[in-house]
Amino acid sequence: MNVLVCIKQVPDTKIIKVNPKTNTLDRSSAPAILNPYDAHAVEEAVRLTEQHGGKVIVLSMGPPQARIAIKKCIEIGADEGYLISDRRFAGADTLATSYALYKAIEKLIKEEGIDLVLCGKHAIDGDTGQVGPGIARRMEIPPLTNVIRVEKVDTDEGSIIVHRKIENGYERIQSTLPCLLTVEKEINEVAYSPLPNMIKAARYEPIVWTVDDLNDVDVKQLGLKGSPTIVGKMWPPEKSSGADMIGGTVEEQVEQLLTITLEKRELFSVKGGETT
Ligand SMILES: Cc1cc2nc3c(=O)[nH]c(=O)nc-3n(C[C@H](O)[C@H](O)[C@H](O)COP(=O)(O)OP(=O)(O)OC[C@H]3O[C@@H](n4cnc5c(N)ncnc54)[C@H](O)[C@@H]3O)c2cc1C
Repeated sequence: MNVLVCIKQVPDTKIIKVNPKTNTLDRSSAPAILNPYDAHAVEEAVRLTEQHGGKVIVLSMGPPQARIAIKKCIEIGADEGYLISDRRFAGADTLATSYALYKAIEKLIKEEGIDLVLCGKHAIDGDTGQVGPGIARRMEIPPLTNVIRVEKVDTDEGSIIVHRKIENGYERIQSTLPCLLTVEKEINEVAYSPLPNMIKAARYEPIVWTVDDLNDVDVKQLGLKGSPTIVGKMWPPEKSSGADMIGGTVEEQVEQLLTITLEKRELFSVKGGETT
């Protein structure tokens, strides 16, 4: 069973800043990392191929430095990595991204055969969660989103049973293969990479495809040209804890706490007209 995992290199959003003048992400303000959800997708793919045979192929669309994220996936245990990289992909929104990835997947299906596609639940920078379903729609395969467990894969029957997180609980669902899963972090713990994987990753060079390497591409659907989305404004969320800091000695802090508590006593339950 060959499993293809779409992976994205993202800026570490715990650190990244928004440029207040241009309202865009200042990508130079944070290191680039493998999208954390995608690491879990690769880990799951490795576990599945260990059980059912086949190989794990990772695919990314991005600039040349996205090779580093692919090497990280080799460290986790992926067998092969492909990067589609070309100026004509630049400025892609989720529609154009899923089209470009789909065209690469189409070629990989012909060359390698793909039984299952995995994506992260979302990318921590764009955060739309649209790319996985967008690929599934184009491939005309079922999208199973927010997967927290793969219960069973039956390669003879061509079926899979997964558990999905839904708004008010969980759902156990069976699908035919091939299908596309988007995975949550709960699906597994990413294991420490063994030394041979690290050595392989250090020496590994991903296969890079440009637009010209893909078949029957409609260039009007790529990059900025193929992107109907316009980002009107972007701003960081306001972080307000609503907390007042108190200081001084312990006695002074207790005094201040009591004063604040009594001032706000209407927020506490008052029994018989008295607070205790
Ligand atoms: C008008 C516009 C212009 C943009 N221009 C750029 C640009 O020039 N450069 C840029 O980096 N971003 C650009 N973006 C952002 C870009 O659209 C998104 O980063 C990208 O489409 C993925 O969307 P997302 O981050 O919401 O991914 P999600 O849909 O949240 O990602 C879900 C999963 O899809 C897979 N996935 C997502 N993106 C990729 C990828 N590139 N390769 C492989 N797998 C992937 C991963 O498995 C990921 O976990 C632009 C967005 C807009 C709206």
